[in-house]
Amino acid sequence: MSGIYIHVPYCKSKCDYCDYYSVVTSQGREKFANLVEKELILRQGYLPDSEIETIYFGGGTPSMLGSVQISDIISGIAKRYSVSSNPEITLEANPDDISEEFLKNLRSFGVTKLSLGVQSFSDIDLKKLGRRHNAKQAIKAVSLAHTLGFDNISVDLMYGLPYSSTRIWEENLIQAFALPVKHLSAYHLVYEEGTPLILKLAKGLVVPVSEDQSVEQFQLLQEISSMNGFIHYEVSNLGRDGFFSRHNTSYWKQVPYLGLGPSAHSYNGISRDSNPKSIIEWQKSIKNGAIPTEQEVLTPQDKLNDYLVTSLRTMWGANVDTIAQNFGDGNAKQFLHTAEKYVRLGIIEQRDSVFRILPKHFITSDGIISDFIAV
Ligand code: SF4
Repeated sequence: MSGIYIHVPYCKSKCDYCDYYSVVTSQGREKFANLVEKELILRQGYLPDSEIETIYFGGGTPSMLGSVQISDIISGIAKRYSVSSNPEITLEANPDDISEEFLKNLRSFGVTKLSLGVQSFSDIDLKKLGRRHNAKQAIKAVSLAHTLGFDNISVDLMYGLPYSSTRIWEENLIQAFALPVKHLSAYHLVYEEGTPLILKLAKGLVVPVSEDQSVEQFQLLQEISSMNGFIHYEVSNLGRDGFFSRHNTSYWKQVPYLGLGPSAHSYNGISRDSNPKSIIEWQKSIKNGAIPTEQEVLTPQDKLNDYLVTSLRTMWGANVDTIAQNFGDGNAKQFLHTAEKYVRLGIIEQRDSVFRILPKHFITSDGIISDFIAV
């Protein structure tokens, strides 16, 4: 079982907080699918011989690609790989790109899941975040997708916004759960290096929320989601049983995946490979018939760290028997030694050989996980 990720590097405008690689141009966009297909051919053999279970269009803004190119990429994958009989095919979309015709086309190409970049249902928040859509468009996009047969709809929401409030966050959650969504990705705002937002922070134009507000908003997220039957299965992801992201879960369970497009990452259990964060470099390489990736062969220590970082982010946790079996008794002993402190504090729960951070402590998971990482 493997996955394929396609990074679509186009945006109509840049949002203040975003550090994902994307360009604000339509130049060359019509050739994107063709280049992705060429990369698929160049990188055949990267994945172990297995079925493709998940395909994920992320970005950037995949919904800017247009139906024909999306269809070409899906059929290009199906031509070269055996795709499972029940694949999860996800497309990230901006609410303002949604139309009836576009959604009908996606359904006919086999797209099974729509992930909408809503971020907030407050027009003031949306304006300050630099988003192009408004709350009305977001609500309409979810309803239309549901009416046209999308059963698996996810929305992205952000909390910890400097110019917002806990009351608005609560309203956002209530609004999200009033819609037919089955999955929610909720991210606390991060001030990423190189973004306009961090410059505003440096100039004192924005004031970050206090730690108390962050915790309060995180607790609201957990309370309201749980009241609506959602399970907090990963630090930033919640969903109804049966609607957890299969693609993202495969990252956290070390399933191999192939990443196509500029800035995409790949992993096959042996190496981690990164494509250049430049559409020009990526295109040039593909046109010259050269694999565009930079490869990092994983050491046993890298593999152990990957296992700890990914598994401890989830409600499934890390298994000390797996650590002993794959990385030796010494590492298992070290893991138990670190875990012991957190078990005593009631932050990590132990069930037989499995240790998991309790979801109510997911908000501090980065610090906890870093304690487990050997340098
Ligand atoms: S948040 Fe999404 S739409 Fe905004 S710049 Fe980043 S990738 Fe583009």
